[in-house]
Amino acid sequence: MTGHFRIDDEKELARAGTLMLPRGGEVRTPLFMPVATKLSVKTLSSEELVSTGTEAVITNGFLSSLEPGSDVIRSMGGMHRMMDWSGGIFSDSGGFQLIRKGFEPRIKDEGARMRSPFSGELVHITPGSVVEMHVKHGVDVGMILDHCPPHGTSGEDLALATERTRVWAERSRVRIDDEGLSDLLPVGGGKMPLFFAITQGGIDLKLRERSTRDLVGLGFDGYGIGGLSIGEDKEDMFKALGASTSFVPRESPRYFMGVGEPRDVIRSVGLGVDVFDSVFPTRNARHRSVFVARGRENIRSGKWKGKSDPIIEGCDCLACSRYSRGYLYHLFKAKEPLGPMLATVHNVRYMQNLVVAIRASILEGRFSSDMEPIDLLGAG
Ligand SMILES: [Zn+2]
Repeated sequence: MTGHFRIDDEKELARAGTLMLPRGGEVRTPLFMPVATKLSVKTLSSEELVSTGTEAVITNGFLSSLEPGSDVIRSMGGMHRMMDWSGGIFSDSGGFQLIRKGFEPRIKDEGARMRSPFSGELVHITPGSVVEMHVKHGVDVGMILDHCPPHGTSGEDLALATERTRVWAERSRVRIDDEGLSDLLPVGGGKMPLFFAITQGGIDLKLRERSTRDLVGLGFDGYGIGGLSIGEDKEDMFKALGASTSFVPRESPRYFMGVGEPRDVIRSVGLGVDVFDSVFPTRNARHRSVFVARGRENIRSGKWKGKSDPIIEGCDCLACSRYSRGYLYHLFKAKEPLGPMLATVHNVRYMQNLVVAIRASILEGRFSSDMEPIDLLGAG
């Protein structure tokens, strides 16, 4: 156990743990975080989010630093107060935007320059400015700046990005250790965030090992596994994931960034992952695709028309406990905003039920990474 992470039980590499949040409170792992890029899980109020059993969300710190702006967030008491959210808030650094062409990134050892998608202006970020940003936002876990190269990057370019991630982690570490940093906490108070580094190395197993060892040597509060799930072959992704988690100390939380397909979550837990985030359940919900007992179905499928049964029999979410498939079919056909909201509540609740069931199976000693979601959740 470190000061903020406790392993409650293990089944081979899979772990059930508890992450203590700096502001008080704790979240259980495996943890699934819906994405609140612009300080909102699209279509859901904080009350609805609580009803899904969500314990933490991830926001995009970089985009939030541009709009509404870090000083605005700080003066309004931080992200928790703005979002009326007392659960955990993880926050990304902007590193992922470095692979988005629309941001026109230019990258040097000192930091990166990008074009704001809101104002069109050029903005500069550095490892130190990202650390400061997270403190101003009052988040629980801030991801430090990493250089995530695009899918397909190999050879010298991949090695360079991995090395730059190490250099940026060193600079982040220096800024985190600076005593004056707490002066930047949100107006009204706050606690210093935990800081997680992000390992890189693409699907090159030697680079993954080196990147992980380098960052672990600098001593962060947890480790993200980055630069995966961006288009590579799935078997390559799992090999690279295993190569990363195996070099993270047992007592440190491991966060597989951007993964949320149910079977991938189960398999990743089997490789020692504790924390996940993904737009998978929320984006699919808005595009009419909801989890059913086996896989997913399209709400606008003709077979949903006029049906009085819920999406999943026995699901305890708001959508399933009060409304029918036929009503959801109607709402989506009529383009009523209630449709995407109810579908989002259901899909997020499904993911939270899944991670709770994975945790129970670890605690009861019956978890296996080749389990299907239906093995964990029942047939509905
Ligand atoms: Zn449901």
